Amino acid sequence: DLSPFDAVVIGAGAAGLFCAGQAGQLGVKVLLVDHAEKVAEKIRISGGGRCNFTNRDLDPRAPHKHFLGDNPHFCRSALARYTPADFLALVQKHGIPFHEKHKGQLFGDESSDDFIRMLLAECEAGGVTHWQPCSVSAIAHDGEGYTLQTSRGAVRTRAVVIATGGLSIPKIGATDFGHRIAQQFGLRVVAPRPALVPLTFDGAAWAPFAQLAGLALPVRIETGTKKERVAFDEDLLFTHRGLSGPAVLQISSYWKEGTPLRIDLAPGQDLAGELLAAKARGSRKLIANELAQWVPSRLADAWVQQDAAWQRPVNEASDKALQQLAARLSAWELVPTGSEGYRKAEVTAGGVDTRELSSQTLEATKQPRLYFIGEVVDVTGWLGGYNFQWAWASGHACAQALAAS
Ligand code: FAD
Repeated sequence: DLSPFDAVVIGAGAAGLFCAGQAGQLGVKVLLVDHAEKVAEKIRISGGGRCNFTNRDLDPRAPHKHFLGDNPHFCRSALARYTPADFLALVQKHGIPFHEKHKGQLFGDESSDDFIRMLLAECEAGGVTHWQPCSVSAIAHDGEGYTLQTSRGAVRTRAVVIATGGLSIPKIGATDFGHRIAQQFGLRVVAPRPALVPLTFDGAAWAPFAQLAGLALPVRIETGTKKERVAFDEDLLFTHRGLSGPAVLQISSYWKEGTPLRIDLAPGQDLAGELLAAKARGSRKLIANELAQWVPSRLADAWVQQDAAWQRPVNEASDKALQQLAARLSAWELVPTGSEGYRKAEVTAGGVDTRELSSQTLEATKQPRLYFIGEVVDVTGWLGGYNFQWAWASGHACAQALAAS
């Protein structure tokens, strides 16, 4: 035997650090390796530097409410066995101050570094050996276990855990390593695509809205039809190239290329009724000024520029023009040309096909003692702390399995 390791965890991000620490504390001899210079860069930049580490609003019996993938029920077992409350208890044990933002989102008060320190301390408590930077060039399997070729030499181990994450933000070390290893061992991979990502629009069609860059407002956004219809009530942000903000990031995970988005820019308002009532009162205000009571005035000004019939006083406008204006604002239909891609995506949808893995242990069913955890798996969470909760829960399930085997 070349080495004393029971398990090698590849990837010292959210899932890998957590799994290594938990397994170590259960008596597993763990080696944790990562090719990057710095540890857990994605945790560092997460949640605007404060780390939205979990979400209180998560029902493991209904995971499809906050997670997507070919089989949205796959994540149920792991999420039920390690809950947001469990992770929160750990955060409190480490004395990290936190607060709740909207919709159950929990953030650190100070810095995401607090969470990285916590995870490193947990690894320390588990006696984890941590090599970083260290890259892995090959993994071979034989009857007794695995041999890894690493930049610090060959390593023997009984089990391998792939926690190398998704393809988003290549600049800080994201690679397709996990997908390649899955394929090497004959496991299917669901085609990866950027998710939680800003959407872009065609130059000419977008020109009237480009001037709105920086404007944010609450909207209702929808995509898909019938059973596939998905909607979010969140903030929308106009950018120079298109749309972003939580509303668009959320919908981007469900949006299919070539299909439209529908956006209600004045949710909960009866704009047609209000405009017709203003006309009935004989309002001589410009339509844009009247509109500015219900939507931001920058939006109202830009919006009326689309049609000469909207650039006049309310009392001089036809009912039809007012109704059309209201209808367009409350059901703005537009087809994105694409997304900002992996450069800007918060996560990668798709990944190792869940049909190849045990939902109890995250072990590959065809390949003994090869595990996949975190974002590399075809489990994608909503914005709001769900992706980290999946990293913790899948890491925990795998750690339990490593200790039991
Ligand atoms: P990662 O945390 O990405 O870790 C993967 C690790 O593997 C990295 O350290 C990488 O260096 C290493 N690695 C990759 N390839 C190799 C290789 N070939 N060899 C060795 N090591 C390798 N989610 C939330 O829940 N809340 C948030 O607030 C939040 N904010 C985000 C903000 C941004 C800007 C981004 C990009 C993402 C955010 N996410 C957030 C998503 C979240 O960061 C990820 O879903 C999560 O980090 C996934 O954990 P992971 O361990 O699977 O992968």
